[in-house]
Amino acid sequence: MAKKNKIIVIGGGYGGLKAVAALAKHETNHITLIDKNAYHFMQTDVYELIANEKDFAKVSVDLFTYCSGFDENVSFYKQEVLNVDFIHKKVITDTQRFSYDYLIIAVGARTKFVKSINGLKEHAHGVKALHRAMYFKQKFEMSLFKKVQESGVTCKPLSIVVAGAGLSGVEIAVQMASFAKEFYCSNNFLCRKLNIILVSSSQQILKGMDEFLVKKSQKRLFDLEVVIKSQTRVVSLTKESVTLSNGEVIAMDFMIFAGGIEPNGLIYKLDLDKNERGFLTITEALHVKRYKEVFAIGDCATLYNHAKFIAPTADVAEQMGELCSKNIMNLIQHKALQRHNIKSRGILIALGRRYAVGKVAGLHVWGYLAYFIKKAIEKVYFMQLDRHSKKGCHKIFEE
Ligand SMILES: Cc1cc2nc3c(=O)[nH]c(=O)nc-3n(C[C@H](O)[C@H](O)[C@H](O)COP(=O)(O)OP(=O)(O)OC[C@H]3O[C@@H](n4cnc5c(N)ncnc54)[C@H](O)[C@@H]3O)c2cc1C
Repeated sequence: MAKKNKIIVIGGGYGGLKAVAALAKHETNHITLIDKNAYHFMQTDVYELIANEKDFAKVSVDLFTYCSGFDENVSFYKQEVLNVDFIHKKVITDTQRFSYDYLIIAVGARTKFVKSINGLKEHAHGVKALHRAMYFKQKFEMSLFKKVQESGVTCKPLSIVVAGAGLSGVEIAVQMASFAKEFYCSNNFLCRKLNIILVSSSQQILKGMDEFLVKKSQKRLFDLEVVIKSQTRVVSLTKESVTLSNGEVIAMDFMIFAGGIEPNGLIYKLDLDKNERGFLTITEALHVKRYKEVFAIGDCATLYNHAKFIAPTADVAEQMGELCSKNIMNLIQHKALQRHNIKSRGILIALGRRYAVGKVAGLHVWGYLAYFIKKAIEKVYFMQLDRHSKKGCHKIFEE
């Protein structure tokens, strides 16, 4: 039997899974996916988790059944990768060493709990990891419940601070405001005061984004009574309060930190070229500078298109996953590597119940139409994964 190409993918996120699916089409490849978690977490659907429209099972995909759905040439290991020996081509996990011919690093990013902000790690919640998002969702629901128990028109308002007014911070602030409004109204609760405070370090929210998206999102935040504190930053927090750089102290029940990301821990340990923020620097063909057989994709790498920085998104991670798979096949077939021309294909921001705003194929969309497009994209994405998971499940339980 001919020797198979041993390809390892570290990280079963948006980029990693796209690469697995593309490479698995070639039966001469054997792909090993390694992830520290047993599931793929759909971060783009966190807004539905908050709005109680999806439970954790609907925002995650079991990686073992997913990989079992391929024709024998994909294996999954739930192990944490601790380092990579690039000279001897070995991936080192907490329990094993795997050798590879080609490697894809797709470990994503995590919330950057900035050390200089006192109390941040202890008292704030992040949403980049499923366990953190779940914890925060439960905390949010419990807080609403406590207010219901307090009852009466004089009850103390529930105050939630969201630090960081980028896409995820805005989506979370709006979603909580919209959900709580509906929750209180539909149940006719007397204690319905909810303060959501969005802290933005710049003059306007969604810095660098299209003016139309910014205006529509601002209006939506205003309509849902989310208070925006602009041109200020969180400098410290305790269990009950947040201090801002303008000296203001805000009493709060809890805080979500969406103020920045850093590469996942493994990247710090790898002996590879990185930029000043610690993200991997890659070539236009998406491989790392010193090793042509090692590719880095998604949030853990920095991508430029004609010197323009491309913001990390699931959409970009998927495009990188597709191209790096093509380039691995090009290497195998001794063909020239393809340079990327990756651009954001569009953006859709969920802004509360059945409302979104976005720019798709150069056109602005908003309201229910934008929400519908967002849902349709998510549905197609989920169905593609689910097809393999169902096949995998079938195989496992028939054996
Ligand atoms: C609230 C929120 C809303 C968002 N909304 C959108 C949106 O609407 N549209 C959009 O395009 N993007 C959105 N994003 C951004 C998007 O989710 C990310 O850009 C995307 O997840 C990046 O994909 P990735 O494959 O690089 O990494 P991830 O999806 O983060 O996957 C990385 C994987 O690597 C694994 N891993 C990490 N370290 C190790 C290790 N040492 N060993 C083994 N495995 C490891 C992790 O367990 C994980 O499964 C949103 C993000 C958030 C937080």
